[in-house]
Amino acid sequence: MNICTYTFEDYLSLVRSFHGHLAPGVVIGGVMVDVAYRRLPAEGLFDAICETRACLPDAVQLLTPCTVGNGWLRIVDLGRYALALYEKTGGKGIRVFLDPARLEKWSEIRAWFFKTKPKAEQDPDRLLDQIREAGESIYGVQEVEVHPCFLGRPHRGGFAVCPLCGESYPARDGGICRACQGESPYRDSVKGTLPVVS
Ligand SMILES: [Zn+2]
Ligand SMILES: [Zn+2]
Repeated sequence: MNICTYTFEDYLSLVRSFHGHLAPGVVIGGVMVDVAYRRLPAEGLFDAICETRACLPDAVQLLTPCTVGNGWLRIVDLGRYALALYEKTGGKGIRVFLDPARLEKWSEIRAWFFKTKPKAEQDPDRLLDQIREAGESIYGVQEVEVHPCFLGRPHRGGFAVCPLCGESYPARDGGICRACQGESPYRDSVKGTLPVVS
C-alpha cells in the first residue's frame, strides 16, 4: 500500500518526525488524502478542508501543498473525521470520511476511533496492521462542491495600531486589539520587552 508518493513505511517515519509520535489518526489521514487524490484530476490546484483539528490537518500538511499557514488548508472544526480536497477556483472536490458503518470487521480501528479501550489495552501494531489491511474499504467518499465563501483567500481588510499594546491588529476588531479586549492567552498583562540577545 502506498500513501501518495510514499511507501507505507516511509509515510510512518514522516508521521513520527512531523507529529512527534506515530499517531494512528495521522496514518488514517494519510490514507484519506490518498483516497481523495486518486479521484481528482491529475492536473489542477486543490485546497483542503479538515473537519476536525485532531491529527487530520497534519496528514494534509505532510502530503499536499496546503498548510494552515499558507491558507490553503482550512479547519472547519465540526468534530467529524473528514477531509475534502477541492478545486481552488471552482470548489468542486472529493470529501473522504472514516465511516463507522464500515468498521465492523476492524475491531482495533473501531476501538481506537470510539475510544472504547483504555490506552494500556490498545495494541498499536495490530491497529496499524488493520489500517493497512483495510485500505480504502473503511472510508466513505463523496463528490462535494464547497461554499463560495471558502474560495479564494480570506479578506483581511486594513490594520490599525492598538493604543494599549502598540501592536498591529485588524482594524475591524474595534478601537483596541482583541488581546487588550481580554482575549490574551497570557497571565497578567505583558509589560515591556526584553533586551536584544546578541
Ligand atoms: Zn497525536
Ligand atoms: Zn492591544
